[in-house]
Amino acid sequence: MAYAYDDQNIFAKILRGEIPNNTVLETEHTLAFRDISPKAPEHVLVIPKGPYVTFDHFCNAASDAEILDFTRTAGQICKMIGAEPGEGGAGFRAITNAGEDGVQEVPHYHLHILAGRPLGPMLLMR
Ligand code: AMP
Repeated sequence: MAYAYDDQNIFAKILRGEIPNNTVLETEHTLAFRDISPKAPEHVLVIPKGPYVTFDHFCNAASDAEILDFTRTAGQICKMIGAEPGEGGAGFRAITNAGEDGVQEVPHYHLHILAGRPLGPMLLMR
């Protein structure tokens, strides 16, 4: 099934400059900005500039250059927020929600990078 990208989603509007964002880092193919409703002292969203809906969509359809740029930018963000466990940081969590069961609110692929406090168990069973 083809992914249908909604170009009216809020991150598409951010990428077009129609609404503001708190940019941490911008590269050729990637934008990283602070989450408007942070769930940890550091909460950065990393998004590709291309029209990808979910993680799997991005992994399967993006170019090598986009994937490389995105991955390096995410790594750079971990560095910039001082969260790298091997470099004296206390660690982080990288999360991506996809689709209905993943409870994805914004249908433009984004990686949440959270840090700055103990983040608890990955998921609560219920
Ligand atoms: P998700 O549930 O994984 O789709 O996460 C969407 C995230 O986008 C949430 O953490 C929101 O707080 C965040 N968000 C929504 N609108 C904005 C915005 N205008 N600027 C920054 N973050 C936003």
